[in-house]
Amino acid sequence: MERIITDAIIYKITKYADNSAIASVYSYDYGKQKLFLPKAYTNKAGIQVFIPGELDFLKKDTSDLNKFYSFRIDTSYAEYLTTPAISLRLSLYFDIFDRLYDIEQQDNVIWTIITKYKTAEYSKINIFGIYALLKNSGHMFNFNNCAGCGKKIEESGSLFHGQYFCEKCSVDGAFNPKPYVNTIMRAFSNQELYKNLKINIYDELAVLDLFIHHIENITDKEVKSYKLFKELILTI
Ligand SMILES: [Zn+2]
Repeated sequence: MERIITDAIIYKITKYADNSAIASVYSYDYGKQKLFLPKAYTNKAGIQVFIPGELDFLKKDTSDLNKFYSFRIDTSYAEYLTTPAISLRLSLYFDIFDRLYDIEQQDNVIWTIITKYKTAEYSKINIFGIYALLKNSGHMFNFNNCAGCGKKIEESGSLFHGQYFCEKCSVDGAFNPKPYVNTIMRAFSNQELYKNLKINIYDELAVLDLFIHHIENITDKEVKSYKLFKELILTI
C-alpha cells in the first residue's frame, strides 16, 4: 500500500447502500482509479466533480478499490463549477473516457486537455479532446485513406463498423458525416491547421455525431448521455 498525492479530477460519485460511495477519478499519475468514500463524505457539502484538484488517497495492492483521504479543488478553475458550457462537455468527455480506458491506464494528455477548457474555445477543445481519447486508447479509425481502395479521402467519407470509406467505396448502412467533418479531423494532426481552426457548436455536434456513432459501435453500447448533451448544449 502506498499513499499517493496527485493531480486529479473526480467525474462520478456512485452512492452505496449504507450511504458510502464510490468515486471514479482520472488521476495524472495513475490514470483511472476507483476510490471508496466512507459515510462522512457523501453529504451535499462533500466532493465536487468536474473540477481539477489535488487528490490524496491510499493505493491498495490487493484491490482496485482504493481508500479516499481528501480532494482539494484548484480554485483557479472555479469557473468550471459555474459554467454549464464546461461542465456539460466534461460530463460527456468523462463518460467516454470511462468506456474506453481501463483501470490504471495512463494518459497524461488528458490532464492537458481538461485544463484547457479554460480557454473558452469549448467546442474546439471538446472535439479535439474526444478525438485524443479515441486515438490514445487505440480506437480511432483511419480517416485519411479509404479502407476500400486506399485513396486519400479529401471530401466526403463514410464510416461503417470502424472503417472509413471514400464516396465511391461507401457501403449501404454506413454513417455519412457532413463533408466538412473531414477537414476538421485533418486539422487534429496538423498544428498549423489546428491553430487556425474555428469551430462553432454545430461543427462540434457534426464531429461528435460521427465519434459517438463510432464509440457506440466499438463498445456495443449506447452513449445515452450524448442525447441529453445535445439537448442541453443548445439551450444554455
Ligand atoms: Zn475508396
